[in-house]
Amino acid sequence: MELEGKNAIVTGSTSGIGLGMAEALAQAGCNIMLNGLGDADEIEETRAKLADETQRNVLFSPANMLEPEQIAEMVATARSELGSVDILVNNAGIQHVAPVEEFPVAKWDAIIGINLSAAFHGIRAAVPHMKNQGSGRIVNLASAHALVASPFKCAYVAAKHGLAGLTKTVALEVAEHHITVNAICPGYVLTPLVEGQIPDTARSRGISEEEVKRDVLLAAQPTKEFVTIEQIGALAVFLCGDAAASITGAILPVDGGWTAQ
Ligand code: NAD
Repeated sequence: MELEGKNAIVTGSTSGIGLGMAEALAQAGCNIMLNGLGDADEIEETRAKLADETQRNVLFSPANMLEPEQIAEMVATARSELGSVDILVNNAGIQHVAPVEEFPVAKWDAIIGINLSAAFHGIRAAVPHMKNQGSGRIVNLASAHALVASPFKCAYVAAKHGLAGLTKTVALEVAEHHITVNAICPGYVLTPLVEGQIPDTARSRGISEEEVKRDVLLAAQPTKEFVTIEQIGALAVFLCGDAAASITGAILPVDGGWTAQ
């Protein structure tokens, strides 16, 4: 298997894209440390199912991405329990939509904390270890919003642009240690988070759910199709493999042509 025996942390992997990347990495041979929020029984079910299906060692860290010490502890635990940290995927993220003058300060702080600063804390904790072992892969889940803006998403767009800057800077710092750092920038992906918004938007605009998908969510996405979780998972696996050793500091759109416009 392509990534046989590698050990990977995927933050925010109790649902959506993070879980999809964890599944893809485990199917490619990685042991996994899952992380995220949610119901403890459901998380244990997810963990046990992934371990059972892939016959990999799958652990869970409850680290809150707003707490730097818990992030460092998550990396230390992955090292001691899995044996190393070969791959760090910074994926946890939240969103809030409001005009800038009404944007709740607490939401700004949380979005910058989870979507940007958590990646810094994870990288800061993992890089010394990756340098020691002379290899590593860091994948940051950014967004098309790392490259272009949309109104009413000031904190999210600022955090994702910041994550692109962090990606490029760290890539330069660690390049000679055979560690790569890249950002994946999806357009709209049909995760539970996005799916949950469709009925409400349909009701509030008086249009059908199909119209919400095509004319609202996919208005900027020329393919008029959602990016799939599987496509993001496959790219994450590729970036973590040997064939991607020369791809570093890259900000990679996976957005159906959105940012080509
Ligand atoms: P999601 O809501 O399904 O998953 C988010 C994950 O982050 C969950 O596991 C959640 O528990 C975790 N999380 C949230 N706050 C946390 C905290 N304080 N500590 C630890 N974990 C926390 O969302 P998703 O759509 O799968 O998004 C995953 C990433 O992909 C995010 O960074 C998001 O910005 C990015 N993204 C999503 C889309 C999309 O269309 N869905 C598009 C581009 C980028």
